[in-house]
Amino acid sequence: MEQYLEAIEAVAGPEAFEAIPIPKTYRGAVVLESDSAMFDGMASSDKDPRKSLRVQEVETPELAPDEAFVAVMASAINFNTVWTSIFEPLPTFGFLKRLGKESRWGKRHDLPYHVVGSDASGVVIAVGSAVRNWKPGDRVTVHCNYVDDQDPSAHDDSMLAANQRIWGFESNFGGLADLALVKANQLMAKPEHLTWEEAACNALCNSTSYRMLVSKNGADMKQGDIVLIWGATGGLGGYAVQYVLNGGGIPVGVVSSSDKVDLLKSLGCQYVIDRKAGGYKFWKDDTTQDEAEWRRFGKDIRSLVGDDPDIVFEHPGRQTMGASVFVAKRGGLVVTCAATSGYMIEYDNRHLWMKLKSIKSSHFANYKEADEANRLISRGAIQPILSSVFPLTETGEAAYQVHHNLHEGKIGVLCLAPTEGLGVTDPDTRNRVGEEKLTLFRRR
Ligand code: NAP
Repeated sequence: MEQYLEAIEAVAGPEAFEAIPIPKTYRGAVVLESDSAMFDGMASSDKDPRKSLRVQEVETPELAPDEAFVAVMASAINFNTVWTSIFEPLPTFGFLKRLGKESRWGKRHDLPYHVVGSDASGVVIAVGSAVRNWKPGDRVTVHCNYVDDQDPSAHDDSMLAANQRIWGFESNFGGLADLALVKANQLMAKPEHLTWEEAACNALCNSTSYRMLVSKNGADMKQGDIVLIWGATGGLGGYAVQYVLNGGGIPVGVVSSSDKVDLLKSLGCQYVIDRKAGGYKFWKDDTTQDEAEWRRFGKDIRSLVGDDPDIVFEHPGRQTMGASVFVAKRGGLVVTCAATSGYMIEYDNRHLWMKLKSIKSSHFANYKEADEANRLISRGAIQPILSSVFPLTETGEAAYQVHHNLHEGKIGVLCLAPTEGLGVTDPDTRNRVGEEKLTLFRRR
């Protein structure tokens, strides 16, 4: 991969990349099928990604006609890599086996190791014979909506496609590696005012928050909407706050420390709830929720911002869903994409139907939505929320930090990039946006 690195650093043209032979193997962060039972019987919090995520050489797969190889300069940790690394709720090898049954090309993915990772920035080094819009040398970021567009169900909203998958989670050859195999319809132009690691951290969480809040497939937020955002300095929340502010809404951010309160205020979120200081206990025990606590939380929101939330941005799941449904305004919407604290959800349906509230599900983003979200990053309207960076060899530690909520925003991972700070070819936009905004989450 050294030759690729030299060509990338020289910002070489397509011929230079085409002249370099594709390596037979490459370095990737993997989980092994043989480790799938290693944490059996342990509590979730004791399952340690540092034990299950290994960095090793893997074989380069064959390239399909509609695919591209990307030399990955940087990647990022997403919570799905945490799930894969602790084999919860299920080992991801089941996904790979199912994909393996679909076609000759799908079969490549069914291996006893899973190269993980659902974000990447880097350079296209080869394209299949059917790829029209991209060529070797193109500098890209990668979104994770992995869809076979020869299926009619993929042609209204591709997130509704029968064969929709998340790349690097439900497919192999993901982004936490020196090389990645992607479908050409996952590629997006790299925002050139960003470093490789800043460019790599956005696509998954930024696009998800865009669909949840901005898209008509999500909450379709309007000016003046009050939006309650759980985990407002986390991966999803850090982008959600920016979308609400950009769209003329009023974010109410929930976080769990005074440091995060400060960070959220510097992001421009005026209304903040510190859930730890508030001591909310929505569950009396494992099976009983406490409506008085929902009510206290709702009162705190009202006294802070003067009204109930029009939209609740949900992802913690079991711990918070009852409260989210309760505090939403009459006619309001809870938009949910996850269940970090448990997926068997309970809420009081009387509060939902009597007050004509709705719950809407959302999952990643279609290509159009991901591209629109990427365009906002490129224009400097949405900022990356990178807080720290690890080398690929320490992917396990990086995932451990996310698993234990020790991070803010996004954790980046350097793959081929030898150091941080490389990759900016549009310094004018960088100056216009300003280092202060671009590195808000880093300077802490
Ligand atoms: P993250 O970076 O860990 O941020 C989540 C934040 O949620 C945490 O920082 C924490 O903030 C808050 N939180 C965690 N547990 C909580 C609880 N029990 N009660 C209240 N708040 C809690 O993770 P993320 O990247 O934002 O992802 C969040 C979830 O969404 C994960 O489960 C992930 O798998 C899922 N996800 C789904 C999609 C999709 O397409 N469906 C896309 C991206 C992510 P405080 O401690 O500061 O409150």
